[in-house]
Amino acid sequence: MTSLITSRARHVAVIGLGAAGLVAVRELRREGHTVTGFEREKHVGGLWVYTDLVEPHSLSVDPDRTIVHSSIYQSLRTNLPRECMGYSDFPFVTRSGKGDPRRYPDHREVLMYLQDFAKEFKIEEMIRFDTEVLCVEPTPENKHKWRVQFKSSSGVSGEEIFDAVVICNGHFTEPRLAHIPGIESWPGKQIHSHNYRTPDLFKDQVVIVIGSQASGNDISKDIATIAKEVHISSKAVASDSYGCYDNLRIHPTIYRAREDGSVVFRNGKVVFADAIVHCTGYKYHFPFLKTNGYVTVEDNRVGPLYKHVFPPALAPGISFIGLPFMGLQFFMFEIQSKWVASVLSGRVKLPTEDKMMEEAIAFYTKLEDLGIPKRYTHFLTDPLGNPMLGTFKPKDAVVISQSDYFNWIAKQCGCTSIERWRERLYNVAIKKIFFGGDSYRDQWDDDQLIEEVYGEFAKLKSNQDCSS
Ligand code: FAD
Repeated sequence: MTSLITSRARHVAVIGLGAAGLVAVRELRREGHTVTGFEREKHVGGLWVYTDLVEPHSLSVDPDRTIVHSSIYQSLRTNLPRECMGYSDFPFVTRSGKGDPRRYPDHREVLMYLQDFAKEFKIEEMIRFDTEVLCVEPTPENKHKWRVQFKSSSGVSGEEIFDAVVICNGHFTEPRLAHIPGIESWPGKQIHSHNYRTPDLFKDQVVIVIGSQASGNDISKDIATIAKEVHISSKAVASDSYGCYDNLRIHPTIYRAREDGSVVFRNGKVVFADAIVHCTGYKYHFPFLKTNGYVTVEDNRVGPLYKHVFPPALAPGISFIGLPFMGLQFFMFEIQSKWVASVLSGRVKLPTEDKMMEEAIAFYTKLEDLGIPKRYTHFLTDPLGNPMLGTFKPKDAVVISQSDYFNWIAKQCGCTSIERWRERLYNVAIKKIFFGGDSYRDQWDDDQLIEEVYGEFAKLKSNQDCSS
């Protein structure tokens, strides 16, 4: 692999070596920067490093707790087909004779893919493992330089000065909880999906699962294999509705919890439950970042940010990879990383601070005009709109359509945008999640498209073979 040596090679820190940090390191080095990756765990892969360990308090509310990073459960399989999940030049294909060959593979397969990527691009040599970043702040002498303070698990601490810091610390570790009147005196067991691993705890119990997005959907079905009844509380259903199949019951949101152990739903149903599992999402959290108030997190909006990446006042020294959620995550990490790398080298220019700020404020105003709450700021829409945004479709809020976003970044940094096949495959996959029923991962009818995709992978490989 050749590195492009630029006139402005920077000394860059990358915090976190999950799927975002790995590709950020690669893109920064490709652009000619010197890179140090900081990873508090012993391995690359971030949330895909499954562990049986959970945090001591099952709702993880204590800010000073010992963090268990991963939020994945034992039965987790991807919710997108592998072909569209991978990075652009390193397809996530089945490895001959090894691993899980399914199109929607289990979490181990994703971890192996990320490990293979790290090996292929010799990323580990640039990483300080077992090293947690405790503080990132501008140096007193020069506000364009950043002091990174860190500490290893054995207690050895240190600090180093960088030209730029790329933040890739993930955002699925700090639980969000729904407000339920009366929950303080409700006597049952409560856990957040961050601490859910297997259904064993819930054998023969009556369980309420709050949330019906990806994790809520999977976890309620996982628990239903062993529990007496599972009651799903979903914001997506009308307040007077009630559904029932097998031992699963679908309700609207919870009206209140009572100290006699009962829970009252908005449809009037009362359930005496043993446990509540909160699949209610996560908060963005950057405990190490000290910016004198230039970057804040307010109702899950990290801002102000230019195009979800650069805080206008601190750009390009501070950047965030991976804030927008849902959609083609690995592809997005890659294209955002290319942008950051090219801005840092000076090959691509950002607008002035004032222009970036104006743009960020216009974006927030547009969301407010559309009635979209702050917490959906980093939500990219897909072709169906997004169920969490109600009836809003990309045409209503073009600024947050996934493909527009990728195309815009690609244009900035002169790189290839999302491939047509990836977009088509993703569109099929998203429909399957919402309308494909329980077996959406194992039944598909896109053989022709898949043939085309593997044709593209073969072309890519032959181009790579020719150029190496
Ligand atoms: P992470 O993987 O969380 O990595 C962040 C890294 O930063 C970690 O290694 C952590 O140890 C490190 N770190 C954090 N703080 C510090 C610090 N202070 N110092 C040093 N290191 C630090 N996406 C898909 O594309 N397909 C799926 O099927 C899919 N399923 C998902 C299922 C679940 C349950 C969840 C929660 C998410 C899923 N996602 C899926 C989205 C997923 O977030 C992305 O795929 C992606 O893996 C996130 O990568 P990341 O690098 O942003 O964060």
